[in-house]
Amino acid sequence: MTAIAFIGLGNMGGPMAVNLAKAGQQVTGFDLAAASCDAVKAEGVATAKSAIDAVQGADVIVTMLPAGKHVLSVWNEILPHVEKGALIIDCSTIDVESSVQAHALAAKLGAASVDAPVSGGTGGAKAATLTFMAGGSEAAFAAAKPVLELMGKKIVHCGGAGAGQAAKICNNMILGISMIAVGEAFTLAEKLGLSHQALFDVASTSSGQCWSLTTYCPVPGPVPTSPANNGYKPGFAAALMLKDLNLSQEAAKSSGAATPLGSHAAELYAAFEQAGHGGTDFSGIINYLREQGRK
Ligand code: NAD
Repeated sequence: MTAIAFIGLGNMGGPMAVNLAKAGQQVTGFDLAAASCDAVKAEGVATAKSAIDAVQGADVIVTMLPAGKHVLSVWNEILPHVEKGALIIDCSTIDVESSVQAHALAAKLGAASVDAPVSGGTGGAKAATLTFMAGGSEAAFAAAKPVLELMGKKIVHCGGAGAGQAAKICNNMILGISMIAVGEAFTLAEKLGLSHQALFDVASTSSGQCWSLTTYCPVPGPVPTSPANNGYKPGFAAALMLKDLNLSQEAAKSSGAATPLGSHAAELYAAFEQAGHGGTDFSGIINYLREQGRK
């Protein structure tokens, strides 16, 4: 049994901590929101009064927080208090630069560290079927893998410090762009009098095939499990897609990569959010595209 501290018990962190406890680990959680602590208590996760209390005696510390500034603030607070030789894993989606800084901080204070952002959403967090994209040394990854396996089904070592975050934002930039492309194709098809099913039947077996079309089709009908069949309830909220696209654009700017479609996708999702749809599934962008067309 491993003593695990889990900091950030929100929509993702709560069920992830519960899965660690269900797998027989000794889990102590902490969240600034009392309601998040209360929600996991009934499911075998002990809770602490502070992040510092939570990490006392822990072999492994997991953080699952909103953004880079929260991760750096929590790691700065707890690292002086962690056991010698402890492993710290950040599963949040954050900017690559903050992630690299967090690794450096851990190294300075003698802790092994891994960045391990996830894909799979709240459903994957509950079902312990997340995909983890990990960055860090071989030794740190080898130590983290058995812990991540209790919360996910696919664990990929992507490279050194920050490589997990880099993989996550590159993947989600593809996703944001491809969802807009598929939405544009259905919008054009509607104007041309082509049925949704006909476009789906052709494109899903032709060169237009992609995940946004075949698994997450943004119109109701062709893929009955996609959010389009459920009033565009998330799923993966447009606000989170915008967050990831913005992270990709920050990274593109600082690294000097040209990502013109990524940049345009970020602008479109920003406009979609400003129109009040941040809580809508990201595939709902098709409705925004329709509104932009000539009546
Ligand atoms: P959330 O807002 O539900 O949870 C974040 C939690 O962190 C909150 O409960 C908040 O109170 C807590 N917190 C903030 N600062 C803290 C601090 N200093 N100390 C302790 N707790 C603190 O967010 P979420 O949906 O669980 O997402 C967490 C991370 O996972 C984000 O980085 C997000 O981008 C990423 N992510 C989310 C999804 C998703 O579908 N929700 C999917 C993939 C990745």
